[in-house]
Amino acid sequence: MDANRWDPRRGLTASRGKRDSMYEGDDLGPKAYPVRANDGEATSAHKRLMAVYPGSFDPVTRGHLDIATRAAHLVDTLIVAVYAVPHKTLTFTTAERVELWRDAIREASLTNVEVESYEGLTTEYARSVGAQAIVRGLRAVSDFEVEFQQALMYRNLAPEIETLMIVTSLNHLFLSSSLLKEVARLGGDLNGLVTSSVASALRAKFPG
Ligand code: ADP
Repeated sequence: MDANRWDPRRGLTASRGKRDSMYEGDDLGPKAYPVRANDGEATSAHKRLMAVYPGSFDPVTRGHLDIATRAAHLVDTLIVAVYAVPHKTLTFTTAERVELWRDAIREASLTNVEVESYEGLTTEYARSVGAQAIVRGLRAVSDFEVEFQQALMYRNLAPEIETLMIVTSLNHLFLSSSLLKEVARLGGDLNGLVTSSVASALRAKFPG
């Protein structure tokens, strides 16, 4: 007989003797939770999860930091990957963008987050560090279009890597690095939007 069988009343049951017998006299109908055929394995070796959070981060905002913090709760190791040469006019050098992220991570006391810079394909970089997932953040519908397309391309290039999209917190909905720089250039208040290191770095770039 098959080790596992589908019972329309009970769902998937595993015929493995004693363990399953607790469901045997149960007359409450189908289970919302099927008996797992690999119950034993589920409690064995925990696979270590690593994800990469790539972006240009020019500079890191509290919106980025929020996404990294939440992703860091899901995985064992998160690598914030600062894209060295994006198709964008950058305000901060790669070294500055990396350093500002490191300050942000120290400030948030994130112990399982590392920061590196990379060039070339994000999927190749993710593979090279052994990551199983790429994290991206979603704000508005406009982000969704771009991120959706990007995620499909990641999947095409590296089907073994999943893209995890994390929805922004409401207070970061309108926060972007470019808007931030515009506010800084015009001498606006950046309180609550960036870390103190980023605020000073922006003041130095835009002395007004
Ligand atoms: P890109 O990687 O496209 O150059 P960024 O470096 O600004 O863009 O952002 C990196 C990632 O963080 C992207 O997935 C972006 O959608 C996301 N992100 C940016 N700002 C926020 C925010 N305020 N809340 C949530 N996610 C954000």
